Amino acid sequence: MSDFSWVKRQQQVLSSSEPVAVPEGNHAVFPPLVDSVKFSFKRTAEAEKLFRGERDGFMYSRVGNPNSKQLEDLLSALIGGQGTVLTPNGISAIGLVLHASLKPGDRLLAFEELYAPSKRLIWDYILPKGVEVRWVNADRLDQAVAVVRDFKPTICLFESPTNPQLKIVDINRLVESVHAVGGKLVMDNTFASFHQQNDLGVDVIVHSLTKFACGYGDAFGGSATFFDQGLFQENSKYARSHGLCLEPAVARSFVKSLKSYPLRYQRAAQSAHYLAAKMEEAGLFQFVHYPFMPSHPQYQLAQLQMKDGGSVISARLLDGQVLYDFIDRLELFELSPSLGSVDSLIAPTELFYGSGFTSQEKRRVGIDSQTFRLSVGLQDPDDLMEDLKRALQA
Ligand code: PLP
Repeated sequence: MSDFSWVKRQQQVLSSSEPVAVPEGNHAVFPPLVDSVKFSFKRTAEAEKLFRGERDGFMYSRVGNPNSKQLEDLLSALIGGQGTVLTPNGISAIGLVLHASLKPGDRLLAFEELYAPSKRLIWDYILPKGVEVRWVNADRLDQAVAVVRDFKPTICLFESPTNPQLKIVDINRLVESVHAVGGKLVMDNTFASFHQQNDLGVDVIVHSLTKFACGYGDAFGGSATFFDQGLFQENSKYARSHGLCLEPAVARSFVKSLKSYPLRYQRAAQSAHYLAAKMEEAGLFQFVHYPFMPSHPQYQLAQLQMKDGGSVISARLLDGQVLYDFIDRLELFELSPSLGSVDSLIAPTELFYGSGFTSQEKRRVGIDSQTFRLSVGLQDPDDLMEDLKRALQA
């Protein structure tokens, strides 16, 4: 048998046998991976029906795949939106929504406290395409609302809690003011995560799946979930045209990790709350910010619109302490800018989030050489506190 007849025989056997599937009435408890790039039909008429939207099915995984669809449906159901678009990472989900939803002449209202790469994306690619951009500050919502009335944004992009200072935006008030002038709101909800702030009326919720959906820091992904059918259609089309999608194996790994999300998140948020209280009580820091601590400047608002305070703490060393020395002495916190994984991480705010900002901007968003951000993982919070104390007192 020549090599070529072997290929032919293999094709004949595989195409005449049942596809890999368990019999009807029987199912795999964990969804199997369908990583085929290509899908086929026995009859062309069926493919034609698929193209006409008259039947379900798949043809090419970049456009649609069972594992990706399962994650899209899961996120839409958990968040409560009408549809979800997946992207290779969180920043491409932000880029997708801004590019697909804004055309030249439109207006973008953006918050100064946005994740720094989102701001760079706006400066470098959204402004030059002829979109007018106004910046507002989360500390001055009255001013922001006045700007909304005058500027009439097409899109308003914001985060709450903000990075790194964990400022809280009054989402109801912002939604009311932007909707009153016919605009739409896009919220990057990565910090608060999947189970909260979904019912406050924003039109698009974006996540970096790299964080809590992954949970281990070993896979990238992004999502945009739409509460507005028009925006969903527009963004789906843009994503398809630009090849924005997620590998089926990665989508399946997020479905897997989301099963343990409530436990991981709850543990991290409880530990962060406990650790923040211990840090404040110890009196070793100039400030400790955590949305669910009474000392947080927007504690009442956080209590109203959030179910918990999240897994991130922001704090500042007392003058005289040297941040880099403190970080270098830590044993349980890794020096890393991410969040939402089983590991506990520390981020010096100026080094990680300060580049490209003027000193005035840095002051306004809460970035300086003594301030740091902790992302709490699954370690015992008492051990984490001991680590912080030891590194300070060494
Ligand atoms: N949005 C926020 C609030 C983030 O913290 C990050 C990453 O740290 C992103 C978006 C970007 O996500 P990714 O790293 O998956 O591109």
